[in-house]
Amino acid sequence: MSTFCEKILAKDKLRPVQGKREDPAHPAIYPTGYLPRKKLRIKEWNIYEMIVRRYLATFYDAAEVASVRYVFSAESLGNMSFALIGQRIVRPGWLSVYKYVNVKESSVPELKEGDCIEVERVSVVRTYSKPPRLYTKASLLRWMESVGIGTEATRAEIIETLFQRGYLKATNAGIVVTELGIKTAFMLLKLFKELTEVNLTRDFEEKIERVRKGETSRQKVVNDAKEFLRPRLLKVKEMIASNDIGELRKLAEEGHDVKCAACGRYGRYVVEGFSLCELHWRAYKNIVTKYRVWRERAGLSFDEYVALLKKLSSVGDFCKDVIKLLAENGFKSQS
Ligand SMILES: [Zn+2]
Repeated sequence: MSTFCEKILAKDKLRPVQGKREDPAHPAIYPTGYLPRKKLRIKEWNIYEMIVRRYLATFYDAAEVASVRYVFSAESLGNMSFALIGQRIVRPGWLSVYKYVNVKESSVPELKEGDCIEVERVSVVRTYSKPPRLYTKASLLRWMESVGIGTEATRAEIIETLFQRGYLKATNAGIVVTELGIKTAFMLLKLFKELTEVNLTRDFEEKIERVRKGETSRQKVVNDAKEFLRPRLLKVKEMIASNDIGELRKLAEEGHDVKCAACGRYGRYVVEGFSLCELHWRAYKNIVTKYRVWRERAGLSFDEYVALLKKLSSVGDFCKDVIKLLAENGFKSQS
């Protein structure tokens, strides 16, 4: 580490690079002049080292990376074009101290416009798009950050609350929504769609931020929130008071005679002679819409398509349920 420090100290002026965003509540972490009093454990050391390297990196010069992109057109292959991208580090700058960023280098031959290269081999490969992965606590946190929900201090807590209340649970594959979570979400969407919107949360976060800066009063923001929530909460209270629990149940997809053929939730949609719940109906719609693409591009019959979906590991559970249902009962409208 001392060689990195010497390099920085040899500079005339020391000015750290500042991030774009400002967060007065959470100033940047930096190493103090003191050495750790006790021997650090390996995990502690790793974090400490990362912070120190990051700190030193802010004083380093910019890194310089050269990249080149060649585009080839192949007339013999129906005028398709192919791209070749090369990249190399010209000057490592801060990358030499902050080793956690990996710039992939790939060397490509020097070419100029008009050069011809031979087509060595052509192969046609069918690939399948992969569905997005389930959220993890870390990726959920990043998503909240990207849409402006919560602050550094509150985001993790918001997620924990969702777990504690039983709306979410963690699995090896990632976070999944519980039955309670699904029902709560449906009920909220139907009763108070506006409450579920990212904009509302963000608006209030911004208002709170303005309170902090002294641009508006706490009382004003609290009143805004009350004004917004009061009529909605009164509505629920009324429903409970008038013993209209059935109405709430209905919204939560319970207390109905019609059951989804795949899962037993309330089957509000009828397709192919089955009743399907909201979730399985969405899966069904997805399967049918995507089939059009498969028919056009690969000329598959609906039977062949379903057989293929059965085999693909990337197909989600709800789609699998619907496929099973369709396979057992024969396809009507599509085949
Ligand atoms: Zn269902």
